[in-house]
Order: sequence, then C-alpha cells, then structure tokens
Amino acid sequence: MRLIFLGTGGSLPTPKRNVSAIAVHMGSELLLFDCGEGTQRQFMLSSASFMKVTSIFITHLHGDHFLGLPAMIQSMSFSGRTRPLYVHGPEGMEEAMRSMLALGYFKPSFHVMTMEVEEGDEIEFPGFKVMPIEADHTVPAFAYVIQEDPRPGKFNLDKAKGLGLPEGPLFSRLQGGEAVEVGGRTITPDMVLGPKRRGRKVLISGDTRPSKEIIEAGNGADLIVHEATLHSSLGQEAAEYGHSTAAEAAEVAKQAGAKLLCLYHFSNRYDDAQVLLDEARAIFPNTILAEDLSSLQVNPPEEEWNRQAKG
Ligand SMILES: [Zn+2]
Ligand SMILES: [Zn+2]
Repeated sequence: MRLIFLGTGGSLPTPKRNVSAIAVHMGSELLLFDCGEGTQRQFMLSSASFMKVTSIFITHLHGDHFLGLPAMIQSMSFSGRTRPLYVHGPEGMEEAMRSMLALGYFKPSFHVMTMEVEEGDEIEFPGFKVMPIEADHTVPAFAYVIQEDPRPGKFNLDKAKGLGLPEGPLFSRLQGGEAVEVGGRTITPDMVLGPKRRGRKVLISGDTRPSKEIIEAGNGADLIVHEATLHSSLGQEAAEYGHSTAAEAAEVAKQAGAKLLCLYHFSNRYDDAQVLLDEARAIFPNTILAEDLSSLQVNPPEEEWNRQAKG
C-alpha cells in the first residue's frame, strides 16, 4: 500500500506544486484520487504509469480536482488502452464525463465507466474497499476511505510442526484460508493461524471544512491525508471557501485518533508550507507535509508498532 502525491497544491498550480492528484498502489490495483490538470505529466515524472490506473475517484467537480481527466483519457487512448477505466465521483460526474468525452475529435479506444457514488456505498476490490464520505465543501464533495480487509492471523510454526505439517506449499494454502489433509487428518486454518489482523485504513479528505463525519470515518486510521489550504491566521477565509486550516486538519486527526497526518492542498500563497506544518504539529505532532512526487508507504499496523517499540 503506497501513495504517490502527484499534485499537492490547492486551486492553482505553482512552479513547485501541481494541483490535486494522489495515486495509490493497492496490490494489483492502481487507484487515482482526483486528477487535476497536468496529472498525466506528473505520472511521467513519477514511478507510476497512468496507463496502469484501474479506477479513479474524484472528490468533487472543482477544476483543480478533475480537469486533468479529458487529457489523460485521450492520452490513454492514444497509447492503445483497451481495458475499461472506472471513474467514480459525486453527483454531476456522469454529465461532466459525457462533456469531457465529447470534446474535440475524439473517440476513446476503451470503455469509460462513470459512476456517481453516495455516502454508504462500498466499492469492492480484491482485498479492500473504498467508501465515499460526505465532505463539507461549497459543492457536493466526498472524502474517501480506503479500508483493507482483515488480514489472516500470524502463522504459528510450532503449532504447524506439532500437527505434523511438512514445511512447504501446505503452509501457504492454510495461510490462504484453505483446509488441508495430512495423514488422513483435516487441518483447518484456525488450527495454525492466530487471530485475524485488522487491515489498514487510509482517509483522503479532498476539499472540506473540518467535519464530524470525517472524524468518525477516519477513526483509528493509519493515515489521514487532509487538506490544509490555509494557516489559521486566515481562518475566516478558509471557512468562507469551504476549506480547512492546518490547525483544523490537525484537530481532525487528533480527534480521529489517527496514527499519521499528511497535509496537502496548500494555497499558492505558501511557497514554503513550513508554517502550516508548524501549526499542525503543535496540535498533532505526528504530521508531515505532502510534496509533489513524494511517496508514502503505509505499513501493516503491527509492523509500525514493532518499529516504534524498537525505536
Ligand atoms: Zn481544491
Ligand atoms: Zn474545491
């Protein structure tokens, strides 16, 4: 589970920051959260390929979050894509996509399947799901939670040996949840596996005011990626335009009991976002800033715990 921040600026691109887009590797899926203008070029500068994107989730229909779609879809087509592309977004997404696909002399070489999502939906993938959470912005907008399924418990080698299991392929079949036969005896996974381990949880806020729904949805998250458009000295303006200050984002992460907060979507007035990081860390110390083309690995919870325990 790895995030690549393709664009971390809010509203306008700057020489240092492109507008919103976050790619997320989840097993064989490559998800894209928002697709601001120039996202396809950011992909080229990163380790990921836009041709590999399987599903796109748009938080809302402000230009800095979706105007990269028509260009990227045309490039995918130009590069010979045949597999369908799934695009999810709030109400208005289907019409926006129809207009985008009708732009210029263009016919895609693949199917673009557009879906308008609602709070309560669970978009299922092998091993995880994505859930839209209503955000508090000036237009219909969603945050998204990526929730990994519970993972199998730890394999107990001593128990396995005690049951006379030979090392080898039978181990992985048991780990995969299959029962196996040894010497006429059936061994089920629960006989050699510890309790199931919780899956990872990541929340990506999109544009939003700090919100109770987002705090609830982000409860215990391994990572919250939250917009921090402005410093709290401009709190009034943030409220007016449906955005959060860095302090408000930190308060959300604190109340949600998240492990790590990553700030993004900075106003173009912050050439250096250090002031935003400083004010967030005063409230929620485990905060980092997203930079364009930086990536972030989300480790299984027990690994993080181990590292902390060692550290
Ligand atoms: Zn925005
Ligand atoms: Zn917006």
